[in-house]
Amino acid sequence: MTNQETVFSKIIRREIPADIVYEDELVLAFKDIAPQAPVHIVLIPKKPIPKLADATPEDHALMGHLLLKVKQIADEAGLDNGFRVVINNGEDGGQTVYHLHIHILGGRPMQWPPG
Ligand code: 5GP
Repeated sequence: MTNQETVFSKIIRREIPADIVYEDELVLAFKDIAPQAPVHIVLIPKKPIPKLADATPEDHALMGHLLLKVKQIADEAGLDNGFRVVINNGEDGGQTVYHLHIHILGGRPMQWPPG
């Protein structure tokens, strides 16, 4: 197990189950195990970048791919009335799983600012 090994790596390798909603060669999206909204999907790169601040210029195309997949996944989840995208980065950002991920939340109106 490397220091980049997380539960999300296990989901990528199908070692633990997840409700996968999208997959391609670069990214995976699955339903959050503790949903904070009627729709709560976690979108991850398969490359185990621990957090957003660890992405490098080498990840430029991957980061673009990841962001562009958000719309497709939100559309397929029926989030026609809008949605929220969240990336928690590091301790103060509230990150708990150190494998970069984008939360896609929808199906209810969101509050701003978040707590
Ligand atoms: P973070 O707090 O790091 O931004 O978000 C991690 C997210 O991963 C949380 O919303 C948490 O519910 C979700 N999560 C943690 N472990 C699992 C798991 O084993 N399966 C799934 N589907 N989601 C998980």
